[in-house]
Amino acid sequence: MKKYFLVMAAALLCMACGGKQSSVDDGPDTIAIEPCPTFEADSAMQSINDQCAFGPRVTGTEAHRLCGDYIVEKFKSYGCAVTEQTAELVAYDGQKLPGRNIIASTNPDCMDRIIICAHWDCRPWADHDPNPDNRKTPILAANDAASGVAVMLEMARQIQASPLKYGVDFICFDAEDWGMPDWDEEQYADAIDSWCLGSTYWAMNPHKENYAARYGILLDMVGGRGSKFAMEGVSRYYADTVVQMLWHLANQIGYASFFPLKDGGQVQDDHVPVNQIAGIPCLDIIPHFENAPSSFGPTWHTVSDTPENIDPAVLKAVGQSVLQLLYNDNAR
Ligand SMILES: [Zn+2]
Repeated sequence: MKKYFLVMAAALLCMACGGKQSSVDDGPDTIAIEPCPTFEADSAMQSINDQCAFGPRVTGTEAHRLCGDYIVEKFKSYGCAVTEQTAELVAYDGQKLPGRNIIASTNPDCMDRIIICAHWDCRPWADHDPNPDNRKTPILAANDAASGVAVMLEMARQIQASPLKYGVDFICFDAEDWGMPDWDEEQYADAIDSWCLGSTYWAMNPHKENYAARYGILLDMVGGRGSKFAMEGVSRYYADTVVQMLWHLANQIGYASFFPLKDGGQVQDDHVPVNQIAGIPCLDIIPHFENAPSSFGPTWHTVSDTPENIDPAVLKAVGQSVLQLLYNDNAR
């Protein structure tokens, strides 16, 4: 991802006047911390390396197909029931893409469910690379794809060892990062929004009839060195109760430096169709680098988005905080 969500931002500000959105510091003061498994960052790091070893997993490539098979097998090995959703998606330039959403479910027959999701495809072009010669090179996407999947896989492993009483759907969305590059903006000026193709398809065609979940958590770029995760605006509008709970929990269990209790910008990301089309409140954990050329961090959509630029401490902060939310929820 993604460009700033400017049109939506204006609408959100208006809607916020109606009082639905509250201030950032009105979360629970002290939350009881329930027993929770330990999220192993090394295991998530290994999974980032595994995914990157396939090369750039651009939708439709052999690396993408093989990595998809790897993700399916890994989730199955952790006891998940896996549903695959394939669909022909259409890129901004009319190119047909063989989309593949992967849904891995714990406790699949339970009606009480939550969603953890991330995109698994890689951007086809490093169009924000500082070196113009690199801008048509596909990215390895250690952070901007592999990190979210890796955190989900490690969570699935921990949940298998310490089962939850409700069901979790880990959804790997395809073709999130096929958004139109700058050089095609003039030619395809009338193209509809070109990001988030797999999640939009899923939101319009959930993998199960009458599908429902209480809430969702999107993980996007959750391993980059130096990342801090401010409260993203679309998340606050649609899923503020969960945002407040997660950020305050993270602060309480020692990750205050990663989860500052302040607002970030609004972004166009896979949580938007989940909120707006599927109607499931979904927040986005996405980095917010202040006063930086890109708020998503220095490796965003560059050839430097490689495993060397992942910090396992960031994976740990995100993975442990989300796990804590799940196990706190389990004790309700
Ligand atoms: Zn991206």
